[in-house]
Amino acid sequence: MEDKKDMTYQELVRGYRAKGYKLKYYGKVKESRRTYRLYKIVINPRYKKTLLITTGFHGEEFNGPISLLGIFDEAVAFAKTMRARLVVYICINPSGFDLHQRYNASGEKQNNDFFRYIIKGGKLVGILRKDEPFVATTLVASPAKEVKLLQKDILKHVYPVPHGVLDIHQQKGNLKTGDVFAYVLDRRPTYLKIMKKLEKIAKIARNDPTFSWEGRRKTFYRIDADGLIFLHDGTITDMFYRFGSKFVVTSETNTTLPLEQVCQINLIWIKELIKLITKK
Ligand SMILES: [Zn+2]
Repeated sequence: MEDKKDMTYQELVRGYRAKGYKLKYYGKVKESRRTYRLYKIVINPRYKKTLLITTGFHGEEFNGPISLLGIFDEAVAFAKTMRARLVVYICINPSGFDLHQRYNASGEKQNNDFFRYIIKGGKLVGILRKDEPFVATTLVASPAKEVKLLQKDILKHVYPVPHGVLDIHQQKGNLKTGDVFAYVLDRRPTYLKIMKKLEKIAKIARNDPTFSWEGRRKTFYRIDADGLIFLHDGTITDMFYRFGSKFVVTSETNTTLPLEQVCQINLIWIKELIKLITKK
């Protein structure tokens, strides 16, 4: 596949239309004096098992949305065969995508925040430390206008709890040991089998430590020896996990990985998740 690093949001939308997909409008935002119309695609609405796919939260991870367009026909054909419904948000943050920058053109930050944990003492945190207990959870409105529209659309969705959720991201920088990893929340043996398949496409990142700050609270976590991070971080995937979605994954590939491999990695995740949610 041709490496289309300079694809614009408009071209992405046209790409789906050219393949014959019907785009469903769910809102519009004004950024950089432009109006961006936001779209999702629903495939096989009559089937009962749903895989929700989101991508393009972070604009510098542009091969997320571009890879999804590249593999979409194959993903749809597989969903038809397996009788799965796909609900797909093709590019969450279009102005960030056009500018190749993490947040939207007005810089509204932490756009993947969906809910917070209330820990002992009533404090709200986005990221739970390993095995940290919590008292309750609470939904939060995203600071980013396009994500607010997504939240509104997704939470009043006709299919309230998808059986599977795949959020397609990428990692820019700070990835020293490989090019592929994934955020998951449970089911290590299931996802290990999938990591074995991904290993044949690109090098898995292993034992890579990282941390994040929330105010003065520092949380350490790491990509483990198998390329997995188990982290409750208040994102869309974590939210649906708490709502009861069974299979929840964030796919991560290095932004330096060639598009062809990013496509292969994400297609494996989509097919394997479809298999898991439709398993009798
Ligand atoms: Zn990201």
